[in-house]
Amino acid sequence: MITISDKTLCCGCTACVTACPAQCIIMRRDREGFDYPFVNSPDLCISCGKCEKVCPMLNPPKETTPECVYAARVTEYVDGSSSGGVFPYTAEKVITAGGVVYGAVLEDDMRVGHCEASDMEGVAKMRGSKYVQSDLYSTFEEVQEYLKEGRKVLFTGTPCQVAGLNSCLGKSYEGLYTIDFACHGVPAPGLWEKYVKALEKKSGAPVKHVSFRDKSLGWRHYGFRFNDQSVPYVEDPYMALFVQDMTLRPSCYNCSLRSGHSGSDLTLADLWNVSEAAPELNDDKGVSSVFVNTAKGRELIEGLELKPVAIEQAKKDNGGFASPAQIPQKREEFFSGVHSAEDLVRYMKSYVIRKPLFVRIYKGLRRWLSKVKRRIIG
Ligand SMILES: Cc1cc2nc3c(=O)[nH]c(=O)nc-3n(C[C@H](O)[C@H](O)[C@H](O)COP(=O)(O)OP(=O)(O)OC[C@H]3O[C@@H](n4cnc5c(N)ncnc54)[C@H](O)[C@@H]3O)c2cc1C
Ligand code: SF4
Ligand code: SF4
Ligand code: SF4
Repeated sequence: MITISDKTLCCGCTACVTACPAQCIIMRRDREGFDYPFVNSPDLCISCGKCEKVCPMLNPPKETTPECVYAARVTEYVDGSSSGGVFPYTAEKVITAGGVVYGAVLEDDMRVGHCEASDMEGVAKMRGSKYVQSDLYSTFEEVQEYLKEGRKVLFTGTPCQVAGLNSCLGKSYEGLYTIDFACHGVPAPGLWEKYVKALEKKSGAPVKHVSFRDKSLGWRHYGFRFNDQSVPYVEDPYMALFVQDMTLRPSCYNCSLRSGHSGSDLTLADLWNVSEAAPELNDDKGVSSVFVNTAKGRELIEGLELKPVAIEQAKKDNGGFASPAQIPQKREEFFSGVHSAEDLVRYMKSYVIRKPLFVRIYKGLRRWLSKVKRRIIG
């Protein structure tokens, strides 16, 4: 029977909940705002051990070496996507073949959860990174049902979600395609939901639209947009604390499932090192690096214009491929004060580490110069 005594050992993938034949495990939210499995009816447990057997943190998949890595951009999709728009291209392929696509969406109340789409209107909601751990609900069960019916399914998510799904299915299905991404980690859904309320209180209006990767300010120095306000991501405390590793799930500091360890068919990432790897695409609109891990992954990107890049070039400058982040010293203190903070926005700002003024001026000048240069060249 699964018990979580060390939170760094549970990524919250829900594989154990789905696999339990006695249905005695539920996901329960902790004080930091993350969901963990909890055996709520121990008397129903038949001690079958399935929950532990399917756990990808206890039984991580073998590492795979990508057969090829490419730089890619899909002109039709780049604007509404976080990097190069490769995900909607692959989704369209699966939908055209009569399949279904699973991915993360922002729901009407601004919670982040997985849902299914069988048309491109549904896929459009999945586009764009949401920097919050997505609620999988009963996705794994639904995926299994579709696969058993012989339907094609494309599942997209964090590496640990892909590893959890594969492990929970227990065998490979011809119709299943999986895509993960280079993963920096996921912040707490409970914190995000509180932050939305705090923004609403501050602005006096309901938050109706959010973009965690607003490209109107550029791809590299993207913005955080809520309603019609967009600020550089470093100036928004939710985003700043995410990139400074303060608000990540404990398992993200101990992650053995990302960077080639999830068993996905494709891995997508931002090609931050574009100036060296694919300088002809360096116009600040967004470029993906595409890691082809399997033959199915190759099938998904067939027909796409691709530029081969060396694996080290694709991984350079990308925290999602580096070793897991260190737990910040003040993380525990930060989370213990969240519930009592009267003004959450101000409280979160007080934990953001700001770069010294001369560094900010220097970086601002470099950004401005590179924009001017692009305008002159373009
Ligand atoms: C929490 C998080 C951390 C990331 N960290 C890095 C990183 O360190 N380095 C890096 O290069 N790239 C990172 N990315 C991925 C990157 O931002 C792009 O999502 C990826 O390159 C795909 O780009 P695209 O333009 O093809 O996809 P888009 O068209 O933008 O589609 C977004 C895809 O991401 C999925 N997705 C969005 N939010 C979530 C979520 N919360 N949980 C699960 N799946 C989600 C959607 O289902 C969809 O498949 C991260 C993304 C997320 C959500
Ligand atoms: S041991 Fe079996 S029955 Fe008990 S909680 Fe785990 S999966 Fe469920
Ligand atoms: S990592 Fe997944 S399978 Fe393992 S305990 Fe956590 S939720 Fe369950
Ligand atoms: S860093 Fe690892 S544990 Fe955290 S969300 Fe990404 S894959 Fe999952």
